[in-house]
Amino acid sequence: MLPRRLPTLLAGLALLALGACAGASRNGSALLVHHVGAYGQAAPTAVGHRNRVRVVVVGHSVRGREILARIVGAPSAHRRILIVGCLHGNESAGEAITRRLRSVSPPMRTALWLIDEFNPDGCRANTRQNADGVDLNRNAPWHWRALEQPGGTYYSGTRPLSEPESRAINRLINHLHPAVTIWYHQHASLVDDSSGGSLAIESHYAHSVGLPLRNYGEIPGSITTWQDVTYPQDTAFVVELPPGPLAASSIARHVGAILGLS
Ligand SMILES: [Zn+2]
Repeated sequence: MLPRRLPTLLAGLALLALGACAGASRNGSALLVHHVGAYGQAAPTAVGHRNRVRVVVVGHSVRGREILARIVGAPSAHRRILIVGCLHGNESAGEAITRRLRSVSPPMRTALWLIDEFNPDGCRANTRQNADGVDLNRNAPWHWRALEQPGGTYYSGTRPLSEPESRAINRLINHLHPAVTIWYHQHASLVDDSSGGSLAIESHYAHSVGLPLRNYGEIPGSITTWQDVTYPQDTAFVVELPPGPLAASSIARHVGAILGLS
């Protein structure tokens, strides 16, 4: 079921994306800057669009870097698929998949929401954690507990959603209700079926990309498990890519598997 505010929110984003406003640039591409104050803090902020790919700011990192989502397809599409290329900053191979997806034609009535970097500070510093030293995949509300100390590999923060990145993704998912969410990690080379999503979807994805379907173990503070428990009709799962950058043929297989989800 659609969240009540979502159609209004998305209609607003679409209207704003059609209007012209101040120019800005990021990575050399022209963006149009907009603000969506009317929807309050809980809504993503529209930044602009390029061709039919709309760009929205869904939050900011500890260091103030934008967390950007690109919407491929109609923002009002009933079915939404969220793909996150990089959560742990030193596991960035999945960004090649989200970047490639910017230029695909999504299936009918489907919009792809693409986030290259959910943890832009960690991605810049090549660290697993965010700039507070928190493992963002131990910071979600599901069975959160204090793990390790600051500086530890799996430090879970001071409380659930203590980190601005965690609050941003939590807000986005509560607004968006993505039917399917894929979180890319490295380097275990598997599709993880432990978080409680649809086994049929996870198994189909694993088969399509040639990775084994495995139970990688439940972890307290897992974003993926929080999603699957909170929205049991939807499916979120982790794909652990192999070490190193992906070959072009692998990127193509993952893109094909995502388009096949619809
Ligand atoms: Zn990871």
